[in-house]
Amino acid sequence: MNMILLGPPGAGKGTQAAMIAGELELMHISTGDLLRSAVKNGTPLGLQAKAYMDRGALVPDEIMIELIREVLPKEKGFLLDGFPRTLNQADALEEMLRNAGKIVEHVVNLEVDDSTVVARLSQRRQCKSGHILTASGNSCPECGAETFQRSDDRPETIQKRLSVYHEQTAPLIAYYRRQNKLVSVNGSGDVQQVFSKITEVVGNA
Ligand code: AMP
Repeated sequence: MNMILLGPPGAGKGTQAAMIAGELELMHISTGDLLRSAVKNGTPLGLQAKAYMDRGALVPDEIMIELIREVLPKEKGFLLDGFPRTLNQADALEEMLRNAGKIVEHVVNLEVDDSTVVARLSQRRQCKSGHILTASGNSCPECGAETFQRSDDRPETIQKRLSVYHEQTAPLIAYYRRQNKLVSVNGSGDVQQVFSKITEVVGNA
């Protein structure tokens, strides 16, 4: 099965994607994680992407489409988290999959309102192992490592990311609804409840 997880920043896509991919044995592809690791390692991709990410803007479509072309698995099912984020990216993905004789079966849209996004992102911290904390705290409850705030989770960048989401990514909701692939799930509840709801709708759809 191939799936896409849509939703604003802070909707819980990363957390849910890791859980769903584990449950359904899909390859979890997070473009945000791929870019952050490229930035950390100082690769050419990271050097190109950093300035866009730091100001809460989207990395240009051509770069993102090439990245996805390289990482989409040939055999295994996948769960995309953070891609597509524009209509161009969605069209490119569709063409890539068509050429490979594949389709996306489910697009799950995690619905969370703007005030929840702002509250969640301004509190969010993570540790160097990638564990995400939804509350403040200087050490990771899972591994004890020191925690830090993502540079794009600062208040001024959060607002920018939200407006980029509404302008460029939210139109994908109608795009996938027209294809009868969209299921919306309320993402504001408890992590386990949201997870159960997603597996239920994906299982029944
Ligand atoms: P995320 O971790 O998914 O919130 O992504 C963090 C940042 O990486 C975004 O704010 C963008 O700057 C960049 N990014 C991630 N995925 C994409 C994408 N599909 N298209 C453009 N930029 C992206």
